[in-house]
Amino acid sequence: MSIGGNIDAVQNRINAACMRVGRDASEVTLLCVSKTKPLSDLQEAYKAGARVFAENKVQELTQKMPEMPEDIDWHLIGHLQTNKVKYIIGKVALIHSVDSLHLAEEINKQAEKAGCVQKILIEINVAGEDSKFGTSDMEKNAELIRNVSELPNVKLMGLMTIAPYVEDPEENRIYFRTLKEFLYSDAIRGYFPERPILSMGMTGDFEVAVEEGATHVRVGTGIFGDRDYGIK
Ligand SMILES: *Cc1c(COP(=O)(O)O)cnc(C)c1O
Repeated sequence: MSIGGNIDAVQNRINAACMRVGRDASEVTLLCVSKTKPLSDLQEAYKAGARVFAENKVQELTQKMPEMPEDIDWHLIGHLQTNKVKYIIGKVALIHSVDSLHLAEEINKQAEKAGCVQKILIEINVAGEDSKFGTSDMEKNAELIRNVSELPNVKLMGLMTIAPYVEDPEENRIYFRTLKEFLYSDAIRGYFPERPILSMGMTGDFEVAVEEGATHVRVGTGIFGDRDYGIK
């Protein structure tokens, strides 16, 4: 199928998931995860109507951004090193992957310099996998959120998680549910806007994530096909 056809198919599945749980499909934003993909693929997605793209590497993001139309919202979803923060501040709509106070402080510093307020999500390792960033210790996460909320040039918008890779997406339902429950818990609810963001769900499990309250789903393979990372 074409990239445009894939986007339609994914969007239809989001709409159906919303219907099943009585949500309005307009509450869910589909992020086209274009990492490793050539500009021609991004342009095809754009022509099909896509306006929200996500990349996981700063260098790739900053290379692609000037080559694409300006009415695109770019999201950074991958691990961010503090020394790269300065390249993306004010350019990305949202940074999904803030997992430490140190990183948030650098974002705050660079945003102040640039005269802007950078929107961010806190990345939470709900399943506690060693291979992922963030922690599953909710006390620590609440403390991080409290500290980040003090930074004037950073705006906390919500939470993000990368669920485990599983064959059966139902296995991840508990992690999505846990993340939403944490977001709406008394300990941290007050630090987020009235309509907070829950960035959860990828190609393998986005329907379950939508059923559990995702507001942003990050879909790569389901739109652009398999990624070729070459032989390492
Ligand atoms: C690559 C990536 C995705 C998309 O993964 P697919 O399984 O291809 O949909 C989503 N979120 C993050 C953080 C990623 O790095």
